[in-house]
Amino acid sequence: MADAADKLNGVFIEVAVDDAAANDPAVVAKLEEVCPVDIFKDAGGRLEIVAAHLDECVLCKLCIEAAPASTVHVRKLYDGTELS
Ligand code: SF4
Repeated sequence: MADAADKLNGVFIEVAVDDAAANDPAVVAKLEEVCPVDIFKDAGGRLEIVAAHLDECVLCKLCIEAAPASTVHVRKLYDGTELS
């Protein structure tokens, strides 16, 4: 059952963070703080994406504004565009 549930995560939204930002403790802490649906987890200064929360993304852009330019990518898989 867990496998089936996992496959349903990230159906509508994909989030990717460039390595430099994902390994910057200050950026990671900020991402964890700003996302209203807890998609970003601070794992001791390294970023983890919480797959189970991906499709709860409300497209608020707070993560994009909190990180250095063009390092956070929020892709809307249902229409092929990326939030900017
Ligand atoms: S756009 Fe908003 S809800 Fe979506 S991942 Fe970024 S901070 Fe979280």
